[in-house]
Amino acid sequence: MIETTLPRTVLRAAILYTGGTFGMTDRGAGMEPRAGIDADIASSVVLFEESENLSVEFHYTESERVIDSATADSGTACRIAEWVRSSTGSAPLDGVIVIHGTDTMAYIGARIAFEVRDLAIPVVLTGAQIPFGRPGSDAQSNLHLALDVLALHPAPGTYLAFGSAVHPAVRASKRDCADYAGFTSARKCTPPAAPPVVLPRRTGTIPRLPVGLLTVFPGLHADLLAAAIRQYPGGLVLECYGSGTMPHGDEIIETIRAATRRGTPIVVISQCDRGSVDLERYQPGRALLDAGVIGGGDLTREAALAKLAHLVELGLSGRQLRDWMTTNLLGELSDPTPPFSAPAHKPASNARSL
Ligand code: ASP
Repeated sequence: MIETTLPRTVLRAAILYTGGTFGMTDRGAGMEPRAGIDADIASSVVLFEESENLSVEFHYTESERVIDSATADSGTACRIAEWVRSSTGSAPLDGVIVIHGTDTMAYIGARIAFEVRDLAIPVVLTGAQIPFGRPGSDAQSNLHLALDVLALHPAPGTYLAFGSAVHPAVRASKRDCADYAGFTSARKCTPPAAPPVVLPRRTGTIPRLPVGLLTVFPGLHADLLAAAIRQYPGGLVLECYGSGTMPHGDEIIETIRAATRRGTPIVVISQCDRGSVDLERYQPGRALLDAGVIGGGDLTREAALAKLAHLVELGLSGRQLRDWMTTNLLGELSDPTPPFSAPAHKPASNARSL
């Protein structure tokens, strides 16, 4: 009998390590990022090859300065996105893996998703709750999960692979800083119907105006809102209550109106994990609409910030910005919420009132 050995399937990936708990160490002053984890990655890839009977050809890169992702700034995601794009330039790849800290992974992932939305291969972000090599570490299994995702050849797009779950980056949020399943995607991701949406191209040099986020709370002072608008002239995501309400005294509403008239977009999203902004429902929402805000539907805070920053940097403003902000580009937004309808689950008949 002639024995034949089938050639192993080859998986080709680029891996970028940017920092985060994945590679951290504690030198006595709290965990801090550690550079030079290439040997750990290589040995982990070998174990993956053995368990999956695959060959992995990978190109490994470390950020010039590996960081605790809490120190990510407004340019971090775009720098990573540029690296992702440049790594796909030469040899053909099945996908790109970005090892990142979990604290800002959902923000960075969402922004990368918009920046590389035209890329023909998947980008997978992963990280860990416990550093590589430490007892109970999830670093290796998360890296293996990310490789598994690439091996499955998912639709091009940006994903977070963590715990045992894979999340579309534009829907993911970090919701647990202890459990292996650190991320959730509470909202459904419905990619837009083909053909893919084509956004206007950036023309000329557009100044990079910072975009920010403010969560409203009982007692929010108009001065805090005004300071946030001053600090973030590119635009502000306002994380409101429920269907899009907030304290709506004259001072607050006039602060918002003055900003939108000056051309600073203000996008209203909800603090709730489910449901969608409906600014028509309550008086405070209507006051916000009248002051010129944009309803952010069911965007997560991470995706709202990423999308607003991306569109503003494309040079969009006014009506055009409003139209694109309310259009589902990558599955980040559901269809507009229908007018208020009865909840799917009726309250139990024996529920006691407070
Ligand atoms: N502080 C860490 C970071 O985001 C947390 C982690 O990676 O889990 O870099």
